Amino acid sequence: MSEDCIFCRIVRGEIPITATLETDHALVFPDINPATPVHHLVIPKEHIASLDDMTLAHRGIMGDVLYAASEAARLLGVAENGYRLVANTHADAGQEVYHIHFHLMAGRGFRWPPG
Ligand code: AMP
Ligand code: ZN
Repeated sequence: MSEDCIFCRIVRGEIPITATLETDHALVFPDINPATPVHHLVIPKEHIASLDDMTLAHRGIMGDVLYAASEAARLLGVAENGYRLVANTHADAGQEVYHIHFHLMAGRGFRWPPG
């Protein structure tokens, strides 16, 4: 837990969200500023600042997080058409919130490679 981390505050219930899905180690909720028709965030409940801060001890938690992402995609009805899961990591990728999160994005076609 990190006192002033915005996603830790969401996990603690200090900032209300409507959970899309919650598992033992993961929380999925809508992005406040959606960039695509469907845009949710998939986070570990434990504070891990970025993928670059992940250690072997986090493998179980992060497995749960990845499974939650796939389950949320099915619940949201986007799994069949397809979706993109993105973890911006550090400056070049534009990471703004330093608590691991995967953007679960869907609802339109995406270009590859991304900009
Ligand atoms: P990133 O640039 O990858 O760190 O993305 C951070 C994401 O968190 C952005 O898409 C924001 O819109 C989103 N975000 C920030 N604060 C909140 C919040 N309180 N609830 C939901 N999403 C948030
Ligand atoms: Zn945090």
